[in-house]
Amino acid sequence: MNILVINCGSSSLKFQLIESETGNVLGKGLCDRIGIDGSFISFVKGEGEKQKKEAVIKDHSDAIKLVIEALTDPANGVISSLKEIGAVGHRVVHGGEKFKAATLVDDEVIKAIEECNELAPLHNPANLIGVKACRELMGDVPMSVVFDTAFHQTMPEEAYLYGIPYEYYKKYKIRRYGFHGTSHDYVSHVCAEMMERKYEDLKIIVCHLGNGASVSAIDKGKCVDTSMGLTPLEGLIMGTRSGDLDPAILEFICNKEGLDISQVLNILNKKSGVFGLSEGFSSDFRDLEDGYNKNEENSIRAVNAFCYRVVKYIGAYVAAMNGVDAICFTAGIGENTAFVREKIVAHLGYLGVGLNAEANKERGKNILISTDDSKVKVFVIPTNEELEIAKQTLKLLK
Ligand code: AMP
Repeated sequence: MNILVINCGSSSLKFQLIESETGNVLGKGLCDRIGIDGSFISFVKGEGEKQKKEAVIKDHSDAIKLVIEALTDPANGVISSLKEIGAVGHRVVHGGEKFKAATLVDDEVIKAIEECNELAPLHNPANLIGVKACRELMGDVPMSVVFDTAFHQTMPEEAYLYGIPYEYYKKYKIRRYGFHGTSHDYVSHVCAEMMERKYEDLKIIVCHLGNGASVSAIDKGKCVDTSMGLTPLEGLIMGTRSGDLDPAILEFICNKEGLDISQVLNILNKKSGVFGLSEGFSSDFRDLEDGYNKNEENSIRAVNAFCYRVVKYIGAYVAAMNGVDAICFTAGIGENTAFVREKIVAHLGYLGVGLNAEANKERGKNILISTDDSKVKVFVIPTNEELEIAKQTLKLLK
């Protein structure tokens, strides 16, 4: 069945049409600058070249219309009519405690997602605009919503509670939720397949290291902890996000710099992480690797702090699960930056991990990068959140 996967932001809409049984991507693209001057759609047919076309995209309904046009275009499309789309899977960032798994969309589900909006005010409303526009334009085609938070809903109370008055959890649901769940879910399942072991028998740590980054601990098929919290600001040092810090720092910076809380939060989200640590040099590991190799102090500082935080989380999750069978690296940095993996794995000698330096140089495929005699296996597994959304959508329809 062909499944259209939609990832809708406030001014952009990414899409992929996936043949769900084989995982083949028939076509994919992006509608960008929705509602802003200079809007356009880009489309790639199969493995072909990217085609970009300027278009007036006033709102998300216009964007969906253009997506359908691109997919069904007689000359350059990939299907002949809308009838060839069996279902639509939508990415939704926050499902709160209401959504412990993906679900098919109906009016009640939309209402329940709206109730989670205050937990992700920048993302959820935008995700929902896409859902509503598709429902309007695609009639009876079944639709699912797949949440970034759902995979982590199996975390036990001791892992998801903050050490603050319990009434804030009761009144406002302030707790740790975690994000990137679709990626952690996908990668940990591929890991079990590669180990030829039952998912439910394994202890797996997934390091999703991208511009946003998180680690999760999956024990016997269930996520038991993850590094992001109420929002995606907690945990690892990221591209521009600070990750964990002493909350008293907020007031301290406010007083010293004459800023208010939202200004400081903006700094913690957009000007911190490896970008902030490198004194604004870069948030991109391609630049940082270059700087590191040229012995530049700013890059060395940022990269070392980034890797150290990952090492600490791995250690914490080995303790939380009382062991680990496999550690997986994924996302932009995890998949592409061999020297970061090497630096992290160098700290895992206590687990009996050895790095296969040759395998660690490979790119773009699922690969074991630990030595054959390594007690704990280490993998690089390119993530594929769109395929996971398509798979979960298919499962809901069966
Ligand atoms: P993501 O958020 O998963 O798309 O990851 C984005 C980050 O991955 C970028 O900011 C880079 O730091 C890193 N990245 C992506 N591609 C490469 C590459 N070829 N080599 C090194 N780092 C990369």
